[in-house]
Amino acid sequence: IVRAIDVCKRFGNFEALKAVSLDVNAGEVVCIIGPSGSGKSTLLRCINQLERMDGGAIWINSELIGYRREGSRLHHLKDREIARQRRSVGMVFQRFNLFPHLTALGNIVEGPVQVLKEPPKQAEERGRALLAQVGLADKERSYPSELSGGQQQRVAIARGLAMRPQLMLFDEPTSALDPELVGDVLSVMKQLAVTGMTMIVVTHELGFARDVADRIVFMDQGEIIETGPARELLSAPGKKRTQDFIAAVR
Ligand code: ATP
Ligand code: MG
Repeated sequence: IVRAIDVCKRFGNFEALKAVSLDVNAGEVVCIIGPSGSGKSTLLRCINQLERMDGGAIWINSELIGYRREGSRLHHLKDREIARQRRSVGMVFQRFNLFPHLTALGNIVEGPVQVLKEPPKQAEERGRALLAQVGLADKERSYPSELSGGQQQRVAIARGLAMRPQLMLFDEPTSALDPELVGDVLSVMKQLAVTGMTMIVVTHELGFARDVADRIVFMDQGEIIETGPARELLSAPGKKRTQDFIAAVR
C-alpha cells in the first residue's frame, strides 16, 4: 500500500533522509525505531506530505503522491490535490493536538462533517462507535482539558479513524504520557492492528513492537540500517548499530 523509493530530504546542508526506501503491505504493522535525530519523524512527515521531499518518490495505493506526471515530466500537485491525497492517511502525533474548544465527540466528527461532508447525525453515530472502540464511550461530552493525556490520545486515534484512512501513521504516540497511561493507548493500537489497519508506528516501546509489529525498521542518521521480522530483529539484530541501540533502550 505504501512504496517509498530513495526518499531524500535536506534541511539546508543537512541530509535528514538519505535515499530511504520502504514498502509496506496492506494490513501490515511496521514499527520504526532508532536514535533521536535519525529521521523517523521526517520520513512519516514525507509520507503524509507535511514535508516536501527533495528526491525520490512515494506511492500510496499505487498513486504517486505530491506530483503528477505529464509525459516524462513531474509537476507539483496543487494544494487541493495534496489535501485530497492526505485524507487517506491518518496521523497521530506525540502531543495530542485536539481542538480545545470541541468535546471528544466534536473533535471526532469535525473532519467527517466538514471535509467528507457526511451528514452530522451519521457522523455522530459513527463517532460514538469509535469512542467505544477506544474505550471512551462515557466521555463524548468531555473537553480535552477534562481528559487525561492517555484519554486525549485515544480521542486523537478515534479522530484519525473517523476519516476512514487507508493508512495510519503514529509518531511516538505514547512518549509524552505518564507511564501508567501508556498501556491503554498501546492496547487500543494493538486492537486496531488486529482489525487489519495498515500502520506505521514510530516508537521506543520495544515490547509493543515485538508483540504487534510484523516488521521493524531500524533507522540511524537518515538511513534505514536494517529491517526484519519483529522478533528476529529484536532478538538477533544483524548490525552492530542496531545491537547497540536495542541494548541502550532496554
Ligand atoms: P526523535 O526521536 O528525536 O523524534 P527523529 O528520528 O524523529 O528524532 P527527525 O525529527 O526526523 O528525527 O529529524 C531528523 C533530523 O532532521 C534531525 O537532526 C533534526 O534536527 C533535523 N530536522 C528535522 N526537522 C527540521 C527542520 N524543520 N529544520 C531543520 N532541521 C530539521
Ligand atoms: Mg521524531
